[in-house]
Amino acid sequence: MIGRRLYLDGVSVIFDGFRALNNLALVVEPGEMRAVIGPNGAGKTTMMDVITGKTRPTTGVVTFGDLDLTRMDEASIANLGIGRKFQKPTVFDALTVFENLELALKAPRGPVPCLRWLLPAPGRARIEEVMTETGLTERAYDRAGILSHGQKQWLEIGMLMMQEPDLMLVDEPVAGMTDAETEHTAKLLARIAGRHSVVVVEHDLEFVRALGCKVTVLSEGTVLSEGSIDHVQNDPRVVEVYLGR
Ligand code: ADP
Repeated sequence: MIGRRLYLDGVSVIFDGFRALNNLALVVEPGEMRAVIGPNGAGKTTMMDVITGKTRPTTGVVTFGDLDLTRMDEASIANLGIGRKFQKPTVFDALTVFENLELALKAPRGPVPCLRWLLPAPGRARIEEVMTETGLTERAYDRAGILSHGQKQWLEIGMLMMQEPDLMLVDEPVAGMTDAETEHTAKLLARIAGRHSVVVVEHDLEFVRALGCKVTVLSEGTVLSEGSIDHVQNDPRVVEVYLGR
């Protein structure tokens, strides 16, 4: 499998004397899916910000394969093939599902510019593939603005897939989804992992269980527990800070 290993070691982020991340270590292997959970304020968003170059670590190293991300800017990191999906869907409501995917294919990695292009046949085939995988084929020519919340999230995941990142960072994808949509999302992400590495930040533990991957529990900016969902759910430290609330 081609891909790069994500490696964080000794990462701390200090905002005005407050340690949002405190000596954080994390390794995600190529093609691995990892779920990151933890109470509010645990540092999950800050961790994603550090990986994508939005926030610079105060100390520590972040590498992707043999590349040092620690001092790279956000655009360069996106260009290396690290894609991020924020919690709220950000698709182009006025464009169809097909056109949104078309834009993602043509756009440079990173933020999608608002331009339209004529698409050669291989691009079309890839769009059709991604629509099949995300379950959006029947909505291909509907404007994104009329999709359900779940479908918008899948479309945005599809837009990331079009860019074929080595690593996909996904922030709370199932917040606000129905049970059926949550299940579809777990299956979609499980299929994607293997081709791309995926890091998913999520609160919904049933969803994390359905992902069937290794789980990292953050608390106070550092790793509290790591392992299978059963392992972390039974870890007394996790029960105390997170599950026992
Ligand atoms: P999570 O995503 O797990 O809820 P965050 O990474 O958003 O946690 O936040 C971790 C801690 O860092 C929180 O206490 C938050 O208030 C603080 N924090 C996050 N960003 C900033 C910032 N830009 N300035 C000051 N404090 C921040």
